[in-house]
Amino acid sequence: MAPTTTAPLWSAPLDLTQPLFAFGSSVEGRALVAERYGELGGRRVLVIGVIHGNEADGVAIVDQLRSEPPPPGVELWLVESMNPDGQAAGDRHNAHHVDLNRNFPYNWGPIGQPGVGQYAGPGPASEPETLAVINLIRQLRPDITIWYHQDLFTISPSTGRDGRIRARYSELTGVPLGEITGGIYTGVAATWARRELEPDDGVAFIVELGATLTAADAELHATAVRTIAAEG
Ligand SMILES: [Zn+2]
Repeated sequence: MAPTTTAPLWSAPLDLTQPLFAFGSSVEGRALVAERYGELGGRRVLVIGVIHGNEADGVAIVDQLRSEPPPPGVELWLVESMNPDGQAAGDRHNAHHVDLNRNFPYNWGPIGQPGVGQYAGPGPASEPETLAVINLIRQLRPDITIWYHQDLFTISPSTGRDGRIRARYSELTGVPLGEITGGIYTGVAATWARRELEPDDGVAFIVELGATLTAADAELHATAVRTIAAEG
């Protein structure tokens, strides 16, 4: 019997001219939704509010970003959450108990057991949420991508354009630059994205918010996103 072949999920074509669409679904069938604002053909900036379900304050920043149009020349993309199941459960992991920020297919390594700490999944990009985000980023090819986490209140420094834009974001928000240590950082989404977008000098980074985020903080972060988006 011939093996059944299915197109890899990450090749599903997306209509990027739509202002709002589901680009995949979670393990439990919740829609993963992308929203587009601003100028079609402008600098593409992607903001992902939540990847770890129990680190959800990025949603307030996404809400702020929705509240007014981005600056001229910017095509702003918002994904409120790439882990709606984890968010519903108040859990870091997705519904397969995988840490999605260890599941991306660049420099993936096995970590842990299901549900334990940073369990990386049975293999690289084993999770539907990971595959959907890979597909979205491969088709969007954003110039700048940001993922929000909590609660280390730090942005890792970097080099080149990536480093310059991180430093600018740090300056605009007061979140200090500093090395994030103490974990195993394989299969990290932003590292994969940076690698993927390297030929275009794309920027991708994590903002570690603090334990809480006030409405004023959310506004400050939204303003910082708009500023780096406009400046490039
Ligand atoms: Zn996190």
